[in-house]
Amino acid sequence: MTAFLTLLARNRLALAGLVVMTVVVVLALITPLLPLADPDVTDTGNRFVPPLSPGAWLGTDHLGRDLLSRLLWGTRLSLAVGFAAAVAAATIGAAIGMIAGFYGGRVDNIIMRAVDMLMAFPYILLALAIVAALGPGLINALIAVAAVNVPFFARNIRGITVGIANKEFVDAARLSGLSNARIILTEVLPNVVPVIVIAMSTTIGWMILETAGLSFLGLGSQPPQADLGSMLGEARSALITNPHTSVVPGLMILVIVMAINLLGDGVRDALDPRLKSGALSRPMAATRVDRRSPVPPAQDAAAVLDIAGLQTQFHIKDRVYRAVGGVSLSVKPGECLGIIGESGSGKSVTALSIMGLVASPPGVITGGAARLHGDDLIGMPYRQLRDLRGRAVSYIFQDPQATLHPLYTVGDQLIEAIRAHRPISVKAGRARAVELLKAVRIPNAASRIGNYPHEMSGGMRQRVGIAMALANEPQIIIADEPTTALDVTVQAQILALLDDLRRSRGLAIVFITHDFGVVGQLCDRVAVMYAGKIVEAGPTRAVLDAPMHPYTARLIDCVPELGGGKRRLEAIPGLPPVVDKLPHGCAFADRCDRVQGLCRAGTVALEHTGNRAVRCHFPVNERQAAE
Ligand code: ADP
Ligand code: MG
Repeated sequence: MTAFLTLLARNRLALAGLVVMTVVVVLALITPLLPLADPDVTDTGNRFVPPLSPGAWLGTDHLGRDLLSRLLWGTRLSLAVGFAAAVAAATIGAAIGMIAGFYGGRVDNIIMRAVDMLMAFPYILLALAIVAALGPGLINALIAVAAVNVPFFARNIRGITVGIANKEFVDAARLSGLSNARIILTEVLPNVVPVIVIAMSTTIGWMILETAGLSFLGLGSQPPQADLGSMLGEARSALITNPHTSVVPGLMILVIVMAINLLGDGVRDALDPRLKSGALSRPMAATRVDRRSPVPPAQDAAAVLDIAGLQTQFHIKDRVYRAVGGVSLSVKPGECLGIIGESGSGKSVTALSIMGLVASPPGVITGGAARLHGDDLIGMPYRQLRDLRGRAVSYIFQDPQATLHPLYTVGDQLIEAIRAHRPISVKAGRARAVELLKAVRIPNAASRIGNYPHEMSGGMRQRVGIAMALANEPQIIIADEPTTALDVTVQAQILALLDDLRRSRGLAIVFITHDFGVVGQLCDRVAVMYAGKIVEAGPTRAVLDAPMHPYTARLIDCVPELGGGKRRLEAIPGLPPVVDKLPHGCAFADRCDRVQGLCRAGTVALEHTGNRAVRCHFPVNERQAAE
């Protein structure tokens, strides 16, 4: 609730709408207590008194009635009727929508076709017809306005309900023996309430206008009772001679509807779950770069990709999450570099920062460089960066099910990936796509190309993912846990494939994983990450044989060994620190069994010895360079 209010308050216009509406509603509520003239008493001697006259601040109308009094009483009535119509339409519409969406099938069909029929009539015409049938009067106008708005709510809520009715938690409720009515009330309703509120907040202004419209035509409130619409209607004949009689109610309608709509938009934005986590904006095309410190020099001239002192943070409200805190890495052509660490250690953010793919807001790259053949990618103009994305540097992600579009065949998606960077014909693209599928050893490539992602197994899909990454002959592939979702045999095949590809094509690979077993099979060098920093780096064999950082040693102990006898596999106790409150000294100190006072005293530097590096005062094995 407080989060909702702060989000709402951030939206200036919505806040203005809220203030205006509060004033209007309070005025409407206290109207009976105010020392006002009776709104319905006529005094024909004092017709059309101009505004600001003694005894009649806003003047009088054609029957000499006090306009201020009629305005306040009229506002009260208009608000009440508009609000009641909105609540009625929302309740009935939501109920219909939930029932149609939940039961589906024939129930859904019958209800929704009826709703469609209602929607086929022009809006205001339908309202007029309903009032004509029921007879003029404010209550009948309310019924008419509510009725014409029911289909809008029903359609909206049905759509949401269909999505929810297939979710696992609804199945779970069914399994636990709840009745359908209970499921609708306890499982579905709470999930659609925000949508109902959003739909209401954006339509209530419209409903007030419609009610006023009916009253204006003489079909709503009946004389002498005032509402804003009937006041306008009665003033129509004196529009030229005594404009104040129309301007007063007209302005009030304008103010109310504007305020409600501004507020409604604000409520919608603040309640929309997609906008909850951050500002009310979509991510930028490339991560925001705000480097405060000088750009560090490159370390390795022979490298394809050279990352130096990369820092990426997430700025959420007044918190700063240091997801990547100064990471330096480099990969040469044909080399495979492993990045390993527990979940949340900053591996993915490091990988995504390279091509400016971290969502901004909240992500900001605050320091460092990532050089591709010497050109810094951080802060590169977007057009240039986009040209390199998928061409020079490509990514493979964990879940190909999520990265492949479910509605296009894998062939179409491959062709699209190729054509994004090369203007070739669809036919040539198709030939190239078949070639790529063969390269990733998909059997019957020519026929498989017409498959949809769901027609393939997990391993096949990941092969397609790799084929897409290869589509434009990249120099470097960044693979973010590409085998985590696969079973062990398929994983081995994918690893063998990647290994082949890099040897035959001279590809550089950055391979992200949390599994030392995988690193051992594929990577030449490995960097161990913990809490956004590299804690150990070196040639894979050397690190596996003699880990220096206690964290690395524990990670290696987590890998089961076949035929290794009865060794207990120990999880690392404790949890990694939260990156917005990193400890002063070594981030691993709280979980380390070798910790001493010095570890917490201050920042521990990454110390290099030959081709190995470790960030620890008391390493497990002697500092020594691997040969
Ligand atoms: P992993 O090593 O598992 O790939 P990540 O690089 O995804 O870890 O995440 C590193 C840290 O950054 C985590 O603590 C995570 O909570 C934080 N983080 C990642 N993405 C976001 C985001 N969009 N907003 C806020 N924090 C994030
Ligand atoms: Mg990750």
